[in-house]
Amino acid sequence: MLKGKTAVITGGSRGIGKAAALKLAENGADIALIYAGNDEAASDTEREIKSLGVKAKSYKCDVSDFDKTGETVKQILADFGGVDILVNNAGITKDKLILQMSEEDFEKVININLKGAFNMIRHVFSPMMKKRSGSIINVSSVSGMMGNPGQANYSSAKAGLIGLTKTVAKEIASRGVRCNAVAPGFIETDMTDVLPEKVRENAEAAIPLKRMGKPEEVAELILFLAGDRSKYITGEIIKIDGGLYI
Ligand code: NAP
Repeated sequence: MLKGKTAVITGGSRGIGKAAALKLAENGADIALIYAGNDEAASDTEREIKSLGVKAKSYKCDVSDFDKTGETVKQILADFGGVDILVNNAGITKDKLILQMSEEDFEKVININLKGAFNMIRHVFSPMMKKRSGSIINVSSVSGMMGNPGQANYSSAKAGLIGLTKTVAKEIASRGVRCNAVAPGFIETDMTDVLPEKVRENAEAAIPLKRMGKPEEVAELILFLAGDRSKYITGEIIKIDGGLYI
């Protein structure tokens, strides 16, 4: 289904990004992974992807760094010959109530989770426009739609991604490129592993489907948005949250 396509996945070494990388690779895509610093996770994931018979390479790059993302995209274009799919998935949390949140914690989350996506889109925009095809998928969160106490930085960044998604979709549609977002609820990854047991229990109780989601379930949605089965969908934000935000 994606044979001959190249997918760039930020935060592709672990969690949702890793599951998406494996899912796109199972469907034939070559994979360029971007990660922040965990070399071991990146090389393990790269090995797992290669075992599926596609090309894979990982790139250490802080997505909040505009120049570094530019150099990395240039290198990926040289290594793979083009980019067809971009998944802006890299993200962090630095949760605190507003009264305790430092300026640094606010800026850091905005710079990685929101500006990081802009940086990547800015650098793949021309190559995708020239190809006259492509799919960009931003990983937002229901936190950006509902708000969440303790996440002023995170929910602002995730809400920002929704505006970015819609604007990019409008700017690039005439060139045959689509841009959508997924908005997960609670998904079982390292990011949610750190939540206290009580918070997890309360979250599960609030989710109509009564459980947290799995990275593979989000990966299925990313696969759908990456390929031609969604070719008439752009500018859309699709929740995947077990009904948390109905
Ligand atoms: P995770 O398991 O903590 O993995 C985060 C990934 O992002 C890692 O690959 C990490 O690289 C990479 N990363 C972090 N900072 C980066 C930076 N500055 N530059 C490049 N890469 C960076 O997270 P996850 O739970 O899979 O979350 C993935 C995305 O889904 C995030 O955007 C998150 O906000 C969103 N999301 C998650 C949930 C959830 O419940 N888990 C819910 C809604 C939305 P290293 O391995 O090198 O550290």
